[in-house]
Amino acid sequence: MMADARTIESANPSMALSANSSSDRSTTLEAVATDRLRAAAGAHGPAVFTTSFGAEDMVVLDLIARAGLDVRIVTLDTGRLHDETYQLIERARERYQRPIIAMAPDTQALEAFVAEHGINPFYRSIDLRKRCCEIRKMEPLGRALRDAGLWITGLRRDQSVTRAELDVLARDDAHGLMKLNPIVEWTHDDVWAYVRRFDVPTNALHARGFPSIGCAPCTRAVEPGEDLRAGRWWWELAETRECGLHMTPDGRLVRAPKPAPIDPMAELISNVAAG
Ligand code: SF4
Repeated sequence: MMADARTIESANPSMALSANSSSDRSTTLEAVATDRLRAAAGAHGPAVFTTSFGAEDMVVLDLIARAGLDVRIVTLDTGRLHDETYQLIERARERYQRPIIAMAPDTQALEAFVAEHGINPFYRSIDLRKRCCEIRKMEPLGRALRDAGLWITGLRRDQSVTRAELDVLARDDAHGLMKLNPIVEWTHDDVWAYVRRFDVPTNALHARGFPSIGCAPCTRAVEPGEDLRAGRWWWELAETRECGLHMTPDGRLVRAPKPAPIDPMAELISNVAAG
């Protein structure tokens, strides 16, 4: 039977979660996410899962593999990833015995861009950074999704304010398909509880202070108390987020103290250590 968006959205664990233990919560979240994946892939496939091999994406990959779903696994190999990410791609390939398609940038466009602007132009302007992302990420993503009917991601609502309103399943007009976020209501702790429960492989950089992992030249570790995504394109923050940010004398960026400080990295590192 074909599942529509309402059917998949209605797989909402909130009521079951409120009264249950943490292990029940974990089991319920896993079951709901698997149901969403199965229903959406059946209703809207061909399905493509794009992964950057962060912890959330590893959870979704594990769910897809354990359910035996017919989903194409795709990563955007920008050519600038950390070696730790390439190592994890190899571990994932061995563990799950599934092809992982690494989409590469268009050679001609990349060579022309580098010839004109140099190998690391992203530090010089936001426009050049966006152009680099367009060539190394966006255009390959468009190719990866070209024949797909469903795009699966590992996005979560509490990763950032811009993700707070994410739906479980929604139309993505930009790519002309449906987009499924099967673990959208999971917390950071839910992700790491799943990682420990199923011994899911993760990127070694998480334990070194990288909660969010992208291209090597554009990602740095974050300080205790910093936003989880503060390590991404950090040099742009001084221009685009002056409010709440201060420059240290040695040129590093730090966030202003918050009224109720949260230390996500301490949580993350303790989760990794506990695993
Ligand atoms: S994250 Fe940095 S290196 Fe990667 S594509 Fe964007 S600008 Fe280029």
